[in-house]
Amino acid sequence: MRALTVIPGKPNTISLDDVPAPPQSDGAVLVRALALGVCGTDREIIAGHYGWVPKGEARLIIGHESLGRVEEAPAGSGVRRGDLVVGIVRRPDPVPCPACAAGEWDMCRNGQYTERGIKERNGYGSEQFRVEPDFLIAIDPALDALGVLLEPASVVAKAWEQVMRIGARGAVWQPRVALITGAGPVGLLAALIGAQRGLEVHVLDRMRDGVKPDLARALGAVYHVGDLAGLKPDVVIECTGAGAVVLDVLRRTAPDGIVCLAGVSSGGHAIKLDIGGLNRDMVLENHVVFGSVNANRRHYRAAAEALAKADKEWLARLITRRVPLARWREAFEQRPGDIKVIVDFSEA
Ligand code: BGC
Repeated sequence: MRALTVIPGKPNTISLDDVPAPPQSDGAVLVRALALGVCGTDREIIAGHYGWVPKGEARLIIGHESLGRVEEAPAGSGVRRGDLVVGIVRRPDPVPCPACAAGEWDMCRNGQYTERGIKERNGYGSEQFRVEPDFLIAIDPALDALGVLLEPASVVAKAWEQVMRIGARGAVWQPRVALITGAGPVGLLAALIGAQRGLEVHVLDRMRDGVKPDLARALGAVYHVGDLAGLKPDVVIECTGAGAVVLDVLRRTAPDGIVCLAGVSSGGHAIKLDIGGLNRDMVLENHVVFGSVNANRRHYRAAAEALAKADKEWLARLITRRVPLARWREAFEQRPGDIKVIVDFSEA
């Protein structure tokens, strides 16, 4: 079968290779790939900045945003031949740490977790893949090809869950205004969940026109380019990872405000910061700033609910390019106007 593989740590080694059929040790359920979402993490792996090869192997099959159809499933696995499914990304560490033992591998305490297509486990960028039944999520057939959005949606479902859990430290905290920075797929899905929760949502991005402002406004959100004036959000979900944006949101939260950092910075850019002033504001206004990564099964379920409730046409507009596997290279190019780009395995 064909698979997209890379040598992590070495830039631009990505290629479409012939590889053996997926091993039974990957899981009892055999899945035929339909689509693979591309995200910033994939581009970082391709650039040689991130990613780890599986033990004893020379290359890593890339891809962690999956959608496929079950071809073989043993009785009792919870899925049947023909079901649409998405594979969970992370696997618990082998120790396991208390978080992984409780099914919260997204909160792994010792860093020994593995991730499909990212860290020490082959990913979902192959014509067929295998998954353990416990790490598969069945997709509502009504979502169809939009099911490929489940993984990025799971990441923001976790971010929102954590915000609300942290907010519950105050007996009556009810957020009213949310700011989402970055109108990429993660930002727009975070805005979707904010709107579904009934908040006044503001989205900040650099793009003046095109699909991003349209999609934000279609949610009823206020779209901002650059200037946030006096906006004082109760919740910020920061999805850019850009130092200047991070710094700005830390300074503008409302009393009892919560900032979730969900974007990953590349690092290496020093920025001047009055840490004393920040400390003063944070203490005197009970601010919380926290980071959030990955998702466990509870978050995939919450994400599936959010996608099921969403307008399907709106979700479809998030997918701005579908690239057939035969032209896979184009999927990893960043083009103006891209939101979510998909490698289409269905016509392979
Ligand atoms: C994935 C997460 C993963 C993270 C760090 C993200 O792109 O969506 O599942 O935990 O990268 O590797």
